[in-house]
Amino acid sequence: MAQGNLDLYSQFVTSAPGSFIAGKVGLPQPEQLRRHEAGQPALHGPVLVGGEGRLVEPVRAILESDYDLAGADAEGKFAGLVFDATGIRRTEDLKALFDFFNPVVRRVAASGRVIVLGTTPEETGSVEERIAQRALEGFTRSLGKEMKRGTTVQLVYVSADADTGASGLESTLRFILSGKSAYVDAQVFRVGAGAATAPASWDRPLEGKVAVVTGAARGIGAEIAAVLSRDGAHVICCDVPAAGESLSATANKVGGTSLPLDVTAADAAEVLAKHVQERHEGVVDILVHNAGITRDKTLAGMDSARWDSVMAVNLIAPERITAELAEKGVLTEGGRVVGVSSMAGIAGNRGQTNYAASKAGVIGFVDGASAELASKKITVNAVAPGFIETQMTAAIPFATREAGRRMNSMQQGGLPVDVAETIAFFASPASSAVTDNVIRVCGQSLLGA
Ligand code: NAD
Repeated sequence: MAQGNLDLYSQFVTSAPGSFIAGKVGLPQPEQLRRHEAGQPALHGPVLVGGEGRLVEPVRAILESDYDLAGADAEGKFAGLVFDATGIRRTEDLKALFDFFNPVVRRVAASGRVIVLGTTPEETGSVEERIAQRALEGFTRSLGKEMKRGTTVQLVYVSADADTGASGLESTLRFILSGKSAYVDAQVFRVGAGAATAPASWDRPLEGKVAVVTGAARGIGAEIAAVLSRDGAHVICCDVPAAGESLSATANKVGGTSLPLDVTAADAAEVLAKHVQERHEGVVDILVHNAGITRDKTLAGMDSARWDSVMAVNLIAPERITAELAEKGVLTEGGRVVGVSSMAGIAGNRGQTNYAASKAGVIGFVDGASAELASKKITVNAVAPGFIETQMTAAIPFATREAGRRMNSMQQGGLPVDVAETIAFFASPASSAVTDNVIRVCGQSLLGA
């Protein structure tokens, strides 16, 4: 990340005098997170794969072409540790976590990646196994809090019925074991049973796909458009007509199309359908519901317009547009729907009963729509951003903003690109086994864990 992207606090504590003072008074010194860079290897250093479950060999096979797989006797630092815990069937066997991680945990490099692989607890073969597998969550969340210098720890539950090559797991492994997940920490990913096909190129997985991004004129939405386009998609950028100029700027920048569209309009899905019929053979492969607003007030002082507008944009529009486009067949078989929830929808936030209800509703939307659209092989997932450096968060009063920015394991705010990369992971054709997931992009926020 360029120095220019760092906020003022980070600039101060990473400068020579600032770093000296920060060290003396115990101010947290945020690590400069290593993010994805085109042409660079996904991780800079060896990955140690261990454990004795059904996934360890398939994982080695998946990773060996693009990663440097090391043995436990390797010298120096590891860029990643992957532990297959699917062999743990009784609580006594959880000690295998200690045995594997204890000797090597200090040897993880900055911006390192730690993954524990488990079996989806609801799909385990016995009560003992279910208990043991559920225990993995406490382990990974705590290790996430212990790891320093931008290292992340994730738990991936893989369906008990996954194919022997674990093909459905590959997109998740590659996302986690890269700079694309720099601000995703201590999350639980769930990978279903379906087999997945690797794209022709992992650098351009969305080649030939048509994506719609709402709220694309600025902020996180503009970055989502940029990342989906980088990955090969043609992006239809939508935003309110009043945002016309910046919307065209985004569309031009990403080589996409700009479509002025108020997502709350009764005919929003129809307008979208007509647009893709005229230009893209009537098909949308990827639908990202990013448009969102806040109208904060404590409930007692809230007028009904604040309640209605937030619900209309954040929740009702995604629900309705998805249903209509799926019904019309515009959202095609194998399509991808991605919602944008929020930490507020998980933890709640004072002054945001309307916003938090709408964003918790997005999680309900993911649960409901993923089940409903599974027969069409359409996946539905969401990101839940924590503190992301945007105009929305720049408007928060200083003290609250500083607290929000620091209260996570990364001790810094995330960038719009961190949210966009997670959305691109969900959007990938290789993520066909990844549905009904809500992944927080929050650097392991202390709130709502
Ligand atoms: P932003 O205000 O910078 O951008 C939101 C965009 O949505 C704007 O361009 C706006 O014009 C557009 N929009 C609003 N109403 C619309 C409508 N009716 N039709 C079409 N477009 C509409 O916000 P942001 O920070 O980029 O947030 C993007 C999403 O991420 C939102 O859903 C927000 O709730 C969510 N989010 C943001 C943060 C954060 O820290 N910034 C945290 C959690 C969640």
